[in-house]
Amino acid sequence: MDYFEREIEKIKKEGNYRELPKGKSLGGLIYKDNKKMINLASNDYLGIASDIDLRNNFISKINKENFIPSYSSSRLLSGGFDAYEELEESLSRLFGSEAAMVFNSGYHANIGIIPAISDSKTLILADKLIHASLIDGILLSKSKFLRYHHNDYEHLEELIEKNKRDYERIIIASESIFSMDGDEADLLRMVDIKEKHNNILLYIDEAHAIGVRGESGLGLAQEKGCMNKIDFLVGTFGKAIGSVGAYIICKSVIKEFLINKMRSFIFSTALPPINIAWTNFVINNLNGSINYKQRKNNLDNISKKLREAIISKGIPCTSTSHIIPYIIGDSAIAMQKSNLLQENGFYALAVRPPTVAKGTSRIRFSLNSNIKEEEILSLIKLL
Ligand SMILES: *Cc1c(COP(=O)(O)O)cnc(C)c1O
Repeated sequence: MDYFEREIEKIKKEGNYRELPKGKSLGGLIYKDNKKMINLASNDYLGIASDIDLRNNFISKINKENFIPSYSSSRLLSGGFDAYEELEESLSRLFGSEAAMVFNSGYHANIGIIPAISDSKTLILADKLIHASLIDGILLSKSKFLRYHHNDYEHLEELIEKNKRDYERIIIASESIFSMDGDEADLLRMVDIKEKHNNILLYIDEAHAIGVRGESGLGLAQEKGCMNKIDFLVGTFGKAIGSVGAYIICKSVIKEFLINKMRSFIFSTALPPINIAWTNFVINNLNGSINYKQRKNNLDNISKKLREAIISKGIPCTSTSHIIPYIIGDSAIAMQKSNLLQENGFYALAVRPPTVAKGTSRIRFSLNSNIKEEEILSLIKLL
């Protein structure tokens, strides 16, 4: 036990100790120590998960026949729940793709797809700032792995030129909107680079863009008009979609391949059909009763206000989204700032190493469309 205690002491000394937050979450609010706080740490970007009317509407269609709480096996072993086919059909219709496939979570998707589609003759070139789940997927693969500087496509092209003769295939992996800085990849440039070669595939994780970007909320690739030029277009339902699970938009042959090769898909119980039905309900009403456009307009407006305020203080901020870092540097000071904001009714958390690079500890604001402009203005005063 000494080993574990020593390691925990070390984490505490570095100011990077984590514990599960206390408090109750209700509607876009957090209740903690008899205090009510606006939740600036949630990924419910459109307020869908906390929308009571929407929930009532969904529940009115549920009865004891169609409330199916478990899949009771992997999808390969047994099946016969329509919800999955319905959701996958909805997705491929909306995205205009040959196929779509649903997974248990974004984490399952990334740790399963990457090792399945790559082998020892594959080179993976990944953005320096990709999410832990993508890194874990790469580490589970047998591929060679190099990282290019964040959003630095000249560096990416250099690495391609240097290595392309040594591999059968190159997979480029990136997020579309990045988790910690809220900045975005240049998807069109990446498609361009891919199209210059015949053995490059593109893997894009839209976790923070699905539901909040694009004409009808399908992500940054929709906004840029390149949805069908990305070989592996992946996203989660756990964030803006207000549900759980994940998807890939791809060619039919890729889906067929994943059904046969993807270990986190083959060897794990599928999500309950009731969750899949809720996801399908959200996806199909995004541009109807959910009123995506109106929610997005408010989110865009408050995000812009906060970004401009941070930049006007001379703090570097490359965010172009609703994820907005307030970079402080020192972990302990970031924690103090987070406590101060909480005392004043704003639940915003400090993000520290190893989640972000040493010396870039920050408050990470993750805004949602329920937040009012006045609330953002009072937050700005506190900064
Ligand atoms: C949140 C996130 C995931 C994980 O998705 P879950 O559905 O929560 O497991 C994957 N990739 C990125 C970029 C994320 O931000």
